[in-house]
Amino acid sequence: MKNKFYYFTIAAFLIFFAYFSYQIFVETRPLQVVFLDVGQGDSILIQKGTRQILIDGGPSGKTELAKLGKYLPYFDREIELVIATHPDRDHIGGLIDVAKNYKIGKVIATGAEKDTAVFKEWKDIREYDRIETLVALRGDEVDFDGTKMRIIFPEGPVDAAAGDANNQSIVARFDYGDNSFLFTGDIESPAEKEILASGENIDVDFLKVAHHGSKYSSSNEFLDATSPTDAIISVGANNSYGHPTKETLEKLSSRNINILRTDEKGDIIFECKAQNEKCKTTTQN
Ligand SMILES: [Zn+2]
Repeated sequence: MKNKFYYFTIAAFLIFFAYFSYQIFVETRPLQVVFLDVGQGDSILIQKGTRQILIDGGPSGKTELAKLGKYLPYFDREIELVIATHPDRDHIGGLIDVAKNYKIGKVIATGAEKDTAVFKEWKDIREYDRIETLVALRGDEVDFDGTKMRIIFPEGPVDAAAGDANNQSIVARFDYGDNSFLFTGDIESPAEKEILASGENIDVDFLKVAHHGSKYSSSNEFLDATSPTDAIISVGANNSYGHPTKETLEKLSSRNINILRTDEKGDIIFECKAQNEKCKTTTQN
């Protein structure tokens, strides 16, 4: 008769084998850039294997955690980098629960602060967990899986109390070989003008449309300079702001830019197999 030790060894071996097979499966999956459908707000997950960059966390912790649970490997409890574009609730609201449920490696933010309960809680949890927070500065680069995320905007540190948070949103460019993305937070025309004047290369394939498709963003000059093939609009169905606006949608379609909206498609996923191959787009509700 086979003893307990025999069965234990077999079980241990199978668990071990399953765990390592899963790890290999995770590490060989293509790089993903996922525009999460978080309702009215922004949250973008860039992932390769067990390494992640999360840009914003949408308005709700519950939604954000459910979305991350869907895409992150189940044993992975660390997000290496969080970029908080600006301190509005529809961008940082969900990050509080992210910090409570995941280890956050680092945060990149502007110096902008907001006198709201949600901003205070986001600031407090970073202090409590001693999460290193770096100030976004033009030209800063973050290595990610042999590629780079570059901070395009703002140019320098933002005064905590100074004015318009939307126009101080972090704008970042991400290049994966022949594929390029521009993430624009909630910038409007004044910030777009500054970026155009900076001489930064913002010509990309995939553009996250600024400020949920507001008519005060996506100026003709900015769209001409970015000249994307695909424009992603992160927006909640029937939101009270009227986003995305008719004006912005018309500017995009008149340039034959393919429009992808989270309120229509759900999560919008770019899967990038190799640097010299175009990323493939799929959607998931
Ligand atoms: Zn917003």
